[in-house]
Amino acid sequence: MIQDIPHYIAGQRVAGRSGRSSAVFNPALGEQSGRVPLADVAEVDAAVAAAQAAFPAWAAVTPLNRARVMFRFRQLLEAKAGELAAIISAEHGKVLDDARGEITRGLEVVEFATGIPQLLKGEFTENVGTNVDSTGLRQPLGVVAGITPFNFPAMVPMWMFPVAIACGNTFVLKPSERDPGAALFLADLLAEAGLPAGVFNVVHGDKVAVDALLDHPQVQAVSFVGSTPIARYLYGRGCNNGKRVQALGGAKNHMLVMPDADLDQAVDALMGAAYGSAGERCMAISVAVAVGDATADALVAKLKPRVEALRVGAGDAAGVEMGPLVSAAHRDKVLGYIEQGIAAGAELVVDGRGLRVAGCEGGYFVGGTLFDHVTPQMSIYREEIFGPVLAVVRVADYATALALVNEHEFGNGTAIFTRDGDTARHFAAHVQVGMVGVNVPIPVPMAFHSFGGWKASLFGDHHMHGPEGVRFYTRLKTVTSRWPTGIRAGADFVMPTMK
Ligand code: NAD
Repeated sequence: MIQDIPHYIAGQRVAGRSGRSSAVFNPALGEQSGRVPLADVAEVDAAVAAAQAAFPAWAAVTPLNRARVMFRFRQLLEAKAGELAAIISAEHGKVLDDARGEITRGLEVVEFATGIPQLLKGEFTENVGTNVDSTGLRQPLGVVAGITPFNFPAMVPMWMFPVAIACGNTFVLKPSERDPGAALFLADLLAEAGLPAGVFNVVHGDKVAVDALLDHPQVQAVSFVGSTPIARYLYGRGCNNGKRVQALGGAKNHMLVMPDADLDQAVDALMGAAYGSAGERCMAISVAVAVGDATADALVAKLKPRVEALRVGAGDAAGVEMGPLVSAAHRDKVLGYIEQGIAAGAELVVDGRGLRVAGCEGGYFVGGTLFDHVTPQMSIYREEIFGPVLAVVRVADYATALALVNEHEFGNGTAIFTRDGDTARHFAAHVQVGMVGVNVPIPVPMAFHSFGGWKASLFGDHHMHGPEGVRFYTRLKTVTSRWPTGIRAGADFVMPTMK
């Protein structure tokens, strides 16, 4: 049965009226499961109007009471994580444990947002001049929008809205049209937690809805996570319209394996980081840079049987390590990259093409794929594949490895595996990447730190959640005050006259 998915505006589920829609699939079966409406400008206007109407009252709620809503939301989210994981897995394809993992990472941002009374404490200086004091306040912006990708349908929205709402803003979420179910589930939980209607709204759509948000005069700020070309476009258009924009883009994350690394540890790390979630993670490792041929030979020898043994299947099947890709088009794109790698002369060590999963013959599966002898000129090195394809690049020394990472267009995440503290420290200091792991393959910062890449992986100057999130979703007001002598001077028994 094909389910019609509604928008969520002013606390109500409302059917789409634009006449345009997009199909939602179960990627393990390759069957359509839902139909998501694609909003027109009037529907976006309705969502923004609801958020604008809710803003004054919500901004006036004390930070402590806003935090209490977040505490209740956190409890509900934890209690219903199983249900939400099933929705994510059915629409995205990732395995259930991985879906639970993304919920946990989102829940941690909710926990961070429960600390909002502490986080919003301003600055104060007594006597900036004689008897003059100065106070710095952080105030909410108004209506803010979030535009999110398919690969983390619960976590990425939760990088944004818990902090935005706790700061006193109201929110319009435009989730990915490929897996819209999680956003509606979260909207219901927020309402159950006591969030007033209109504070959180969901409007589904494509470029039409995104452009309407970018051009809407009442939208004060836009947070985006998705691919680099869209991030770049959205940053330009939003900024041109005078909005605050943080736009996180794509990635090509390198992991350096030094000759002194614990190779078994490095191989375990690469298996999870390259093939987890079928490589559809912005922090996935897609390039292993082996320093020295001996390191490369040993690494590839250890990786090959592990990649061949990957258990691939439907995300809700027991014991499965890797699910399907999100869509037929994306599967074909990934297969196209494998062809390009072969044509460019890379050595295909494990071929994930042609994989058949029993009972899921129509599913969008690609098996784990491993290339060796990849060079920086090849498209499989330069471009983001976003699939279960790991490229091994061989370099002679550490300096060449560091230069390789620094010359790449993207700068989201990176890691180094070594036992040498001096090398690790040098790498952390000199690498041109926003998030760095030392013997940690996917160095996603915790909720109370901030998440963001460099170079073509982030447009804007604020990373997400943590202290950077609070700064992004508030604006600074500095109040300078002087009080003339008042009642302290004592009672005046003379008939009052103008002085
Ligand atoms: P995408 O760029 O196709 O879509 C992201 C959002 O933009 C969606 O809501 C989509 O509806 C909207 N959109 C798509 N085309 C548009 C257009 N022409 N104009 C306006 N809006 C448009 O990305 P995706 O395929 O959903 O997600 C995968 C990408 O996201 C990868 O590149 C991945 O690296 C990136 N990503 C980055 C991070 C990060 O933190 N840097 C995190 C997760 C995903």
